[in-house]
Amino acid sequence: MDEGVPVHTGGCQCGAVRFRVAGVLEDASVCHCRMCQKAFGAYYAPLVSTRGAALAWTRGAPRHFQSSNLVRRGFCAGCGTPLTYEGPDGVALAAGAFDRPAALAPRIQYAIEGRLPFVDGLAALPARRTEEDEAAADFLARIVSCQHPDHDTGDWPPAR
Ligand SMILES: [Zn+2]
Ligand SMILES: [Zn+2]
Repeated sequence: MDEGVPVHTGGCQCGAVRFRVAGVLEDASVCHCRMCQKAFGAYYAPLVSTRGAALAWTRGAPRHFQSSNLVRRGFCAGCGTPLTYEGPDGVALAAGAFDRPAALAPRIQYAIEGRLPFVDGLAALPARRTEEDEAAADFLARIVSCQHPDHDTGDWPPAR
């Protein structure tokens, strides 16, 4: 590994697909276009460009949907996690799929003509922590996560 080159890792929810990016990632954004909403099943898509960095798939690889003549979208065929936007300008990774998404704050919004009208008001909604939901306490006490942890693993899923 090169000294001083930042390394970012991540992957899908089930752990079948993992990636590693070596390099400085500065181009983080959210895209409000209708295609990104659909591809992520979300109000907008958080994306991090890998231009200028070295992207490697370290476990498995995404499947793709050609969403237009110029762009394809990568996702995990096993769990459905959106993973990439791949266009003429390179590959962007889904920001939430990184192991440390907090380190990749978005710097710009694209396609704001598609921005859903309530998005700017999300921060003003009533808010509560998970443990404040007493009705969910039993559910939360019994839940066992099958989600891949936020770091690379030798074998996954672990032997039970
Ligand atoms: Zn998966
Ligand atoms: Zn978009």
